Amino acid sequence: MSRRSGVPPARFPLALDRLSQPASAGTARETLRPQRLLAAAAQDAARQSAPSGLGLDSALVRQRMVDRLRAEGIRCEPVFSAMLQVPRHAFVDTALAGQAYEDTSLPIGHGQTISKPSVVARMIELLFEGARARTHGHLGKVLEIGTGCGYQTALLARLGQRVLSIERLRPLFDKATANLAPWRLDAVRLVHGDGMLGHPPNAPFDSIIAAAGGEVLPQAWLDQLSVGGRLVAPMQGGRGTGQVLVVVERSATGWQHTQHEAVHFVPLKSGVL
Ligand code: SAH
Repeated sequence: MSRRSGVPPARFPLALDRLSQPASAGTARETLRPQRLLAAAAQDAARQSAPSGLGLDSALVRQRMVDRLRAEGIRCEPVFSAMLQVPRHAFVDTALAGQAYEDTSLPIGHGQTISKPSVVARMIELLFEGARARTHGHLGKVLEIGTGCGYQTALLARLGQRVLSIERLRPLFDKATANLAPWRLDAVRLVHGDGMLGHPPNAPFDSIIAAAGGEVLPQAWLDQLSVGGRLVAPMQGGRGTGQVLVVVERSATGWQHTQHEAVHFVPLKSGVL
């Protein structure tokens, strides 16, 4: 989206109009203005035609985002390489596109938000720390709850073998469908449904990731996690700690929970709208 045009054409008619005005004491200042405008236009042109590297289509903006995440301590090369490929700005409203590479969550409509890049990267990093992902180098069969605008789904599509993503709000399901269409991601299936139920016909899943948090983890998610699989989700921590990231790993003998950093996700709700 970088503008590479030369001197903005709108300025020339304006400048010529002003020049043709009779030079009198009253307009003397105005007759000088076109020259200032031309100078400013030339400056603009020089700035716009120089390779700024700040255009949203430039790989540099994504590289800078990844560099910041690395500086913050995230160590997950697979998620970085996916983040370098997926243009986050294409998943948010045009008016917000300029903020797409800042580490901030942004509204996606219907009271929901796209998670900030550091949280997305951290959650995927936690999935990759699982024994299964470390052995195989990918996330296997993935269940995502809370498709939202589809940005994280696009990342997961590059990190797993297959991705099934569930969204309960029809308008967001439609938005994600449209956002992901240009990518022709054969391995991704979007479902309009209640993700609290998981997706029994496609279970078990090697990796489960939720973008909305409740008081407890739905039993369906635990049941649908494969042995050796990993789940990462926000959840209300015990003793008034607020919402935290929870990791669950399933072994042959049961489920092991670990609690991680505090987060702030939209609520997990049942039913579809
Ligand atoms: N990862 C998304 C984040 C969207 S916000 C993105 O990149 O845009 C979380 C989403 O979870 C919201 O769209 C919300 O509607 C959805 N959600 C909440 N409860 C849900 C449920 N039970 N099933 C499916 N989606 C749910």
